[in-house]
Amino acid sequence: MITITFPDKTQKQFDSNVTGLNIAQTISEGLMRATLAIKFNNRLMDATLPLVEDGTIQIITFEDPEGVEIFRHSSAHLLAHAVARLFPDAKPTIGPVVDQGFYYDFDNLPITPDDFPKIEEEMKKIVKEGLPVERKQYSTKTAALEKFKDNAYKIEMIEELGEETSAYQQGDFIDLCRGPHVPNTKVLKAFKLIKIAGAYWRGDAQNKQLTRVYGISFPDKKELKKYLIKLEETLKNDHNKLGKELGLFVVSPLVGQGLPLFTPKGTRIIKKLQRWVEDIEESYGYQQTMTPYMAKSDLYKVSGHWDHYRDGMFLVDGSGDEMALRPMTCPFQFQIYNAHKTSYRDLPVRLSETSTLFRNESSGEMHGTIRVRQFTISEAHLICRMDQVKEEFQGVVNLIEKIMGTLGLDDYWFRFSKGDRSNKKKYIDNDKAWDESEAALKEILDEIGKPYEVAEGEAAFYGPKLDIQMKNVFGKEDTIITVQIDFALPEMFNMRYTDKDNSEKHPIVIHRTSIGCYERTFAMLVEKYGGKFPLWLNPNQVKVLPITDRHRDYAFSVKEKLVEKRIYVDVDDRNESIKKKVRDAQLEKYNYMLVVGDKEEESQTVNIRARNNEVLGTKSIGELTTMLMEEIGEKRLPPELLVQTERDN
Ligand SMILES: [Zn+2]
Ligand SMILES: [Zn+2]
Repeated sequence: MITITFPDKTQKQFDSNVTGLNIAQTISEGLMRATLAIKFNNRLMDATLPLVEDGTIQIITFEDPEGVEIFRHSSAHLLAHAVARLFPDAKPTIGPVVDQGFYYDFDNLPITPDDFPKIEEEMKKIVKEGLPVERKQYSTKTAALEKFKDNAYKIEMIEELGEETSAYQQGDFIDLCRGPHVPNTKVLKAFKLIKIAGAYWRGDAQNKQLTRVYGISFPDKKELKKYLIKLEETLKNDHNKLGKELGLFVVSPLVGQGLPLFTPKGTRIIKKLQRWVEDIEESYGYQQTMTPYMAKSDLYKVSGHWDHYRDGMFLVDGSGDEMALRPMTCPFQFQIYNAHKTSYRDLPVRLSETSTLFRNESSGEMHGTIRVRQFTISEAHLICRMDQVKEEFQGVVNLIEKIMGTLGLDDYWFRFSKGDRSNKKKYIDNDKAWDESEAALKEILDEIGKPYEVAEGEAAFYGPKLDIQMKNVFGKEDTIITVQIDFALPEMFNMRYTDKDNSEKHPIVIHRTSIGCYERTFAMLVEKYGGKFPLWLNPNQVKVLPITDRHRDYAFSVKEKLVEKRIYVDVDDRNESIKKKVRDAQLEKYNYMLVVGDKEEESQTVNIRARNNEVLGTKSIGELTTMLMEEIGEKRLPPELLVQTERDN
């Protein structure tokens, strides 16, 4: 007999060799059916294994995070099993669990999503067969190698594992695995294959490309259905999809990956943002600069980019000069600062630039306009005295909060990113500078009093930073704005000012962006608004809809008057019903539709309808322009967004 202790501390005697499933059954049949694995003496294990000693038990179900993981990973085995039956030449490699489900990577599996129904059918069959999932332990490496001799990937993994190798068998399928697994295929009731992607073995582009099949699974069909509805909603707002549908940007294989091209409509959005940010910056005392896109390697050698960041730079053949496209603007603006002598009275100097930068990201990381190889940021450097750092930093945080608030991007948080000083290759070797700047930044953050998280090893190579973090529609976290305090570069570039006592000193530099990279912020906004931009940012502001051909001239005269006020107006003069015109304009997400017919032409008015179907009635052109200019001037957020925010709260 053995003594089993339950989480509520009660104890029960069982025969030796009892399994987790048997124990669950003594509590209830329902619990037994829901059992995915157990935690025995705090160790996760299969619920089918015999227990031979006293211990504590916790029954793991889908309610537990570990249960979700075991369930989804078992679903990956189920997928591999079905693929092995249908495509005997495919080689399964690995099948881990990810945030949103699971995937399995296969070599030699030339399929498309059209094959999903067939694979899902086979998966259903395996579930119905109710195959027990059994653990196999190999006592020697040779035995495991023999079993998996037909699969080079598994052989590679066994070689790395050493002598302790296990596998899991369900019917005619066996896979190398540490486990644990669900007791039987029959629990894997509801699943769906989601998408296919290419992936390299071990994530290394030097290796062969594999077929990655993503899936999702739940213990019951209702949960799955709920998830799929939510997923569809999310995908609808993906900037990559929506941006293309609304004609905001295109990609061209001739131009290259990570190099999106903005259409006139997409460009309207970006330019509006840029002009606005430049204006605010001026009001905050910044001065704009224009500096070259490339420089000799000498400049990057001083800045440290040549030693710490060369892999991320595009080198350019400068006929004799070794050159590179710029990955950041600081070293350029520092030359402007250094061109003149500066007194302590002249500080702070705030230099800003709407700056295009180039970074050689690996192509696996590209996504729409989020991971790109050329991008534009509002980049600034505040050059100041030590006694000004706090105030300048506070000013930067104020500026960022103003910008984010205006855009309605209020779901961001602060992250304090520190350097990993043991990594001399990634970070400059200057303990004093790290100590001072990290201490200063911590003090400032604590004083500002906003909550922040700390991230080790996420700093820039020359100093710690404050990151503004946000999640995209897929829940993936991204840094969108950074602010850094830098004691190192001013010394490296020999930047100086003359202090009160006539001594020469190095200033401190705060590097900062204020809206982040325009391409990424654009993506965030497309997703946030679901394409329904506020009037001031919308490239599709107003559409005039003549009821018949007869009203065409009047429609264009309305357009002309609005264009004078720099409002973006289109006229839908197609030979279509007014109902269809309204519907199409709504799909294109125009803020306002102006219907014009006999009555309107006669009274020189328009009949206004908002994007959300609200009928605003008849107004004169004068009244209309006043209304539009007011909304644009206030940068009012769209009513749809406000409704959504209320619902979320
Ligand atoms: Zn497994
Ligand atoms: Zn900088």
